[in-house]
Amino acid sequence: MPALPDKHRSFIEWYLEVLELAQLTDKRYPVKGMNVWTPYGFLARRQLDRILIEEIEATGSKPVEFPTLIPQTEFQKEKEHIKGFDAQVYWVTRGGATELDIPLVLRPTSETAMYPMFALWIRSHQDLPLNVYQIVNTFRYETKTTRPFLRVREIHFFEEHTCQVDEGHATARVESNLGAFARMARRLGLPYLAVRRPEWDKFAGAFYSIALDAPVSGAQTIQLGSIHHYRENFSGPYNIRYEGPDGTSRLVHQTTFGLSERLLGALVAVHGDGKGIVFPPEVAPYQVVIVPIPSKMGPDPRPWTEELAGRLRGRGLRVEIDASEDRPGAKYYRWEARGAPLRLEIGGRESAEQSATAVDRLGTKVPIGPVGIEDRILGLLGEFDRRLYAAAEERFRASYATAATLEELTGSEKVRLIAWCGEEACGHDVERAIDGALLGTIVGDPPLPLGAPGPCVACRRSGGTVWAVAGRPL
Ligand SMILES: [Zn+2]
Repeated sequence: MPALPDKHRSFIEWYLEVLELAQLTDKRYPVKGMNVWTPYGFLARRQLDRILIEEIEATGSKPVEFPTLIPQTEFQKEKEHIKGFDAQVYWVTRGGATELDIPLVLRPTSETAMYPMFALWIRSHQDLPLNVYQIVNTFRYETKTTRPFLRVREIHFFEEHTCQVDEGHATARVESNLGAFARMARRLGLPYLAVRRPEWDKFAGAFYSIALDAPVSGAQTIQLGSIHHYRENFSGPYNIRYEGPDGTSRLVHQTTFGLSERLLGALVAVHGDGKGIVFPPEVAPYQVVIVPIPSKMGPDPRPWTEELAGRLRGRGLRVEIDASEDRPGAKYYRWEARGAPLRLEIGGRESAEQSATAVDRLGTKVPIGPVGIEDRILGLLGEFDRRLYAAAEERFRASYATAATLEELTGSEKVRLIAWCGEEACGHDVERAIDGALLGTIVGDPPLPLGAPGPCVACRRSGGTVWAVAGRPL
């Protein structure tokens, strides 16, 4: 079997080959940046969506679905938003042979589709808060090199949009989203850092943006998602108002929360190794793969394989039997590349005993059964999840280091924590030095114990500095 490229020396080459090997996507579609979801990729995505839906609905958000097409007239109401997206939108200008009176935009995100309707839905303070989300495809004409799941032109997009009575309630919604994301990320085994993006890098039209970044390799990071506070920036132009208890008309304050299939790219990037993908059990398309090993002597392993699969499915597990004619070694290789958390090997002896040999994706091999075999498998999956997360957390902490000077940023092999005075010019000095981005200022707990920040890494001014993060976003 050919070896994969080294993950740390040539991350992107490794990433692209791993996706091929695992058959999560098929890159041969003739429109660049638009992915074909293969059955295996689709099953993984479905688990991701399930987790997002469970966690967001637990915070009181309700599902909606808005049209894909947005009239130009609505799209152009918020000036900053237009500036941010104008170069990235696809236009629909004809219906059959007829030129449309008002050209339509393929949604790059759905503010401008939803907000004219929110203005109709919201009348009084009793209609608030309005917390809704949708999972739909959005379209952005990406001009940089596209990468499956990480930078695409047709995006599988989760977007929550909320309207609140005032700025404080909108800030509380941002906090609630941060909590929901923390729970999602734990279920995906993804350690991350929440940062407030600098002014020049916030979402087009936002008051502020919080990004959720995961370090992947060296100083490289992946943005997993983002949460935005809009204040009245959109409710003004879209006239989303309500009548307060005192009878006055007020603008709502809004927030949004966005996630995408980048989460799947991040799962691959963060957990993957020299053999391929490693899926945490929550999101694995198949949590258990059973490989029956027929032999000339001994009983046929298939009846026990079928029975065990049925019992495990009865316990809520996603189980696949690899009954292909490939040799056992080829099957092991395939399911390691595809990241199945647990493999059960069943030969003649296991069949006779109603037992199995369990091998997890991190290589731990144990005989199990026959007594309490389902419970044992559930236990092994739980243990596997904890070990996978502990290993990811250890790499997460090791990805960061402080830097006191711009020189330390040049060629850095770590994501850097730096003291910053907040001036944009210093921010750009940092970006040039690391050849990447000033990702933002830390929200919540830092990845390392940090004392008070020293003088600004760029201008050396003391006092009034804050801890910020610099890295190379993928
Ligand atoms: Zn400075």
